[in-house]
Amino acid sequence: MTGRIHSVQSLGTVDGPGIRFVVFFQGCPLRCGYCHNPDTWDPAGGEATETGELLRQILRCRPYFGENGGVTLSGGEPLLQPEFAEELLKDCKAEGLHTALDTSGYRLDAAAERVLDYTDLVLLDLKMTTGEEYLRYTGCAMEKPLRFLEYLEERGIPVWIRQVIVPGINDNNENIERLNRLLAGKKCVKKVELLPFHKICAVKYQKMGIPFPFDIYPAADPASVEQLSKLVIF
Ligand code: SF4
Repeated sequence: MTGRIHSVQSLGTVDGPGIRFVVFFQGCPLRCGYCHNPDTWDPAGGEATETGELLRQILRCRPYFGENGGVTLSGGEPLLQPEFAEELLKDCKAEGLHTALDTSGYRLDAAAERVLDYTDLVLLDLKMTTGEEYLRYTGCAMEKPLRFLEYLEERGIPVWIRQVIVPGINDNNENIERLNRLLAGKKCVKKVELLPFHKICAVKYQKMGIPFPFDIYPAADPASVEQLSKLVIF
């Protein structure tokens, strides 16, 4: 099957456990103000690629995966091309590989559920902790990722929650307290990662000739984000 891919990273270390082959899908329905991959937004962009070709590339990297590594689908939003994602993950599982899905959780329907049939770990972005901020800064209703999380809990699929910390928006104790409340009692949550907002992507926006919405906010200090991380309970 053919899908549209932005790029691949053969030895990724930040998108799930161990060393991973990361496939960045093309296309995303959200518009997060801090997005560092605006060049993945256009569903018609990227390159048409066969699952078979991706699997060949993945298997060449297999010796580096070790015990914990594997394959991560990221983007963009992999669930925008659910049949393609499903086939790729199914092929990876048939090879005995560990699979992860990095998603905004915007979509939960039969097609998305079939992708989860072949997913060992979900990296779920819970981007904000109030409905008003969620909609304003991402264009997505907060109910969607929360419903997605609920579904993962029902199925017992392990999740790592991720949130980008932006100074002046969510770099405060109240945000972490709300996050703790949203995650309370969820046995599927195995890890919570707070990620410092950075502005390396500004050049991409310049190249595309579009404004970088969060250019007005300073980059986050990693030490302050580390301090906030200590308040996370799950
Ligand atoms: S969901 Fe990810 S790729 Fe899509 S706009 Fe947000 S940060 Fe960017």
